[in-house]
Amino acid sequence: MSADKGLMLTNTLTRTKEQFVPMDETNVRMYVCGPTVYDYAHIGNARPEVIFDLLARLLRHLYGKNHVTFVRNITDVEDKINERAAQEGITIRELTEKTAEQYRKDMRALGTKGPDIEPRATDHIEEMKEIIEKLVAKGFAYVSDEHVLFNVPSMKEYGELSGRSLDEMIAGARVEVATYKKDPTDFVLWKPSRNGEPGWDSPCAIETQGRPGWHIECSAMSAKHLGETFDIHGGGIDLTFPHHENEIAQSRCAHGTSHMAKYWLHNGFLQVEGEKMSKSLGNFYTVHELLDTDRFGGRKWSGDVLRYALLQTQYRQPIDFTEKSLLEGEKLFKRWGEWFRKNNVKPSAEPVPSEAVLAGLLDDINTPRAIAALHQLAKAARGGDVPALQQLADSLAFLGFDPESWTAQQEQAAEKGDVDPELKQRVEAKIQERLEARKNKDFATSDRIRDELAQEGILLKDSKSVETGEIVTSWTLK
Ligand code: AMP
Ligand code: ZN
Repeated sequence: MSADKGLMLTNTLTRTKEQFVPMDETNVRMYVCGPTVYDYAHIGNARPEVIFDLLARLLRHLYGKNHVTFVRNITDVEDKINERAAQEGITIRELTEKTAEQYRKDMRALGTKGPDIEPRATDHIEEMKEIIEKLVAKGFAYVSDEHVLFNVPSMKEYGELSGRSLDEMIAGARVEVATYKKDPTDFVLWKPSRNGEPGWDSPCAIETQGRPGWHIECSAMSAKHLGETFDIHGGGIDLTFPHHENEIAQSRCAHGTSHMAKYWLHNGFLQVEGEKMSKSLGNFYTVHELLDTDRFGGRKWSGDVLRYALLQTQYRQPIDFTEKSLLEGEKLFKRWGEWFRKNNVKPSAEPVPSEAVLAGLLDDINTPRAIAALHQLAKAARGGDVPALQQLADSLAFLGFDPESWTAQQEQAAEKGDVDPELKQRVEAKIQERLEARKNKDFATSDRIRDELAQEGILLKDSKSVETGEIVTSWTLK
């Protein structure tokens, strides 16, 4: 059997759409940079989580569920964490535990299964120190003023991922110039901890306590759980430089490898109603707020509806998060949930997507194409075609949705006698049309309308009004 399963992925490293061929098809390995846990995740942070969850599902489908290792870390050491813990008057551990738990809860609500391994940076300090010592021993890093720095000019391939020249990097605002650096592009592997900042015994015979830089965390955690080289590394587009460029430099120079990961995948940014999401614009929404408060659009939204909005755009494109896209998902789920309820269709325990949905996903995780395939299935399923409905339910479940919850909602609505106002309006218009036809003695049309409604489970009952003697029609939902 060939390791190539027809999956195409756009690789930031080569800037081309490539055939995905894993190094070892019995263990396909993916690492994704996770959250820095000091505050609620916003809906933009959920985008990589949802996309790479979907990619992990796809890889498990293609290579077998025991042949994929998906690692997504938790960054629990960072200056913002220290500040926030001090503000809240709680310990760093309390803050990071609480925030990580909230993160998992929010992401589960969006239908993500979570990674196979979720390493925490603070559990990997020894591994980070080992890499740092190796880099110093090999001449790629040096100690200066209680810091350990990676010397960028020592690696000739530096900049390959982001395609930046050294001059551009120096000009870039994010490169911090400091007196203890040999070169302005050099970046921190280890830094001293002062004034109660979290600290560990330092590497390289530095006597004071210190803490790791951000980039070294991912090099250490990926090597420990996936090996010195692995298949896929993912994250948001903003991480390409400097974070991923620096991860590559550290890992390749420490391990003497030609690459760190073979395929680098980056998701585009999320904006809200056409504008960049930012606290100052007041259009900054956390997942928690969208799920549990009425801050966006004056109401709460379900996790599935949020997931749908995130999957409506291909992952590399910028995404515009709008109320309209949420309402669209909600309307669909109501309609489909009602079909599943009436025909008693549930997704299978191990759902397999339809061929057309799979073809969309294989094409660089083209979720709009997969969603278009769902609509085609829905067209076939509309009249109550159970095999088509089953494919629709299984494809939805494969994409991470929970169609059973929609069915349950429709059941509740049916019990409460709530009828979707749109449905009501449509049925009443049809009844009117039928009464007109009867008046004109066009019984063919009148019967056709009655039969069409019956196919949707809507039963009409005619009776004579006692007062006027006219025919009135009432209806019920089967
Ligand atoms: P952070 O906690 O800021 O490091 O971000 C965690 C993940 O979310 C990273 O993969 C970021 O690239 C990604 N991310 C942050 N903001 C957005 C956004 N507005 N849209 C899409 N992804 C984002
Ligand atoms: Zn990372």
